[in-house]
Amino acid sequence: MMLRHLIAEQVLLDGAFTPAHLEILAGEIVRIHRLSPGEGRRRAEIVKASDVGAGAGMTVVSPRHQVLPGNVDTHVHINEPGRTSWEGFATGTMAAALGGVTAVVDMPLNSIPPTVNVASLRIKQQAAAGQTYVDVGFWGGIIPGNTAALRPLWEAGVFGFKCFLLPSGVEEFPPVNAAQLREAMTEVASFDGLVIVHAEDAETIERATDLGGRRRRLSHYADWAQTRPHDAEVAAVSDLIEAMRETGCRTHILHLASARALDLIAEARAEGLPLTVETCPHYLCFDAEAIPDGAAEFKCCPPIRDAGNREALWDGLREGLIDAVVSDHSPSTVEEKHRGAPDLQQAWGGISGLQVGFSAVAHEARLRGIGIETVSAWMAKHTAQLAGLERKGSIALGKDADLVIYDPWQTHMVSAAGLAHKNPISAYDHFEITGAVVGAVLRGTPLYTAQDTTSPLAPVGGFLQGIGSPSLSVLGR
Ligand SMILES: [Zn+2]
Repeated sequence: MMLRHLIAEQVLLDGAFTPAHLEILAGEIVRIHRLSPGEGRRRAEIVKASDVGAGAGMTVVSPRHQVLPGNVDTHVHINEPGRTSWEGFATGTMAAALGGVTAVVDMPLNSIPPTVNVASLRIKQQAAAGQTYVDVGFWGGIIPGNTAALRPLWEAGVFGFKCFLLPSGVEEFPPVNAAQLREAMTEVASFDGLVIVHAEDAETIERATDLGGRRRRLSHYADWAQTRPHDAEVAAVSDLIEAMRETGCRTHILHLASARALDLIAEARAEGLPLTVETCPHYLCFDAEAIPDGAAEFKCCPPIRDAGNREALWDGLREGLIDAVVSDHSPSTVEEKHRGAPDLQQAWGGISGLQVGFSAVAHEARLRGIGIETVSAWMAKHTAQLAGLERKGSIALGKDADLVIYDPWQTHMVSAAGLAHKNPISAYDHFEITGAVVGAVLRGTPLYTAQDTTSPLAPVGGFLQGIGSPSLSVLGR
């Protein structure tokens, strides 16, 4: 069933909640009627009586519930094909849908092959076809020697290009050195593309590991985090800003974990450099000292740091120095997570949290007096802008009718085994959250509703194309 009318007391329009009636046609929001409080009930009667309405395709949302734009998660590792046992398109996008994320952009690595040329992009799209529950787009990757593949990838519709400045964790996606980074940035700047960077400095981490005496065993999280210190992020961000000055390339810092880099970021912005920054739910929810020893489900790179740093990241968001919050969902099998246990050094570095990220951040934001309107900007509007997804990220005329129904009062405790992710291991296991996603709509098609929690979801997701592609429409409709 396609939704034709949605009437609700609380619809997020232009950053504020208001009673409204949305009219949807072919998946697009075609009319928005702002209503006075309570008017929705009467409006529902009118729509029901009209020829178009006749009851079908109409939803009246409970006055308790809020209608938000679908979240856009631009940092997700799906891992299929090649490491499908870690996560796949079906399970990953199902988790996204259930977590209120209606569009994901998949990272170029951890799948095999990595997305470093058009042929590998096609392999990924083939693997994804027909089994996605939300819309899916793809980042390309920069590795040594693939500069000539970047423009063709851009024209094939990737959203930008990821690179590492130190080993990525998988050998088929090697890092670039300073010269290779600049070569790639010069090329990407030539077509006004975007480079997205895992910003940790290899030498600083080498030095920190040597200073620590290469301990045989590091099971206390904060001790392990010392091997990937704040300075590694600060040094990498500093180098990146220099490379931006030299090449003029639009650049995005992935998963910022250290608030100590914020001053550099503020200066670069003041200088007018086209720099954007994201952080992740786990850096905003947890602190290193409180993580139980050997709990590899919290291992990620860069690491979670102390509580003071966590609050400084919240400040960075409030001040707008950090633009966006994305999951960096990077799961693996339980075996990979437990490798070398309780030593954290060998465990896979990546947190599984796609389904939980939005509600966890909303919960933590509320504890700090920050409203869901602001969280929605970080996780829907700004991420859509980052990727250039003009049809996504807000409830407005001409946008896709991608909607999330949110109950701000429903309380639940996360169970990793109960999430739709492929592997039942997550840092959010036993995390208590107030506020829950109870419904989602993708381009006018309800994926699930608060009233119907038993019907299976349908894989109605399509492919998203970046701004470099001649065809901007969603494929596969
Ligand atoms: Zn990542």
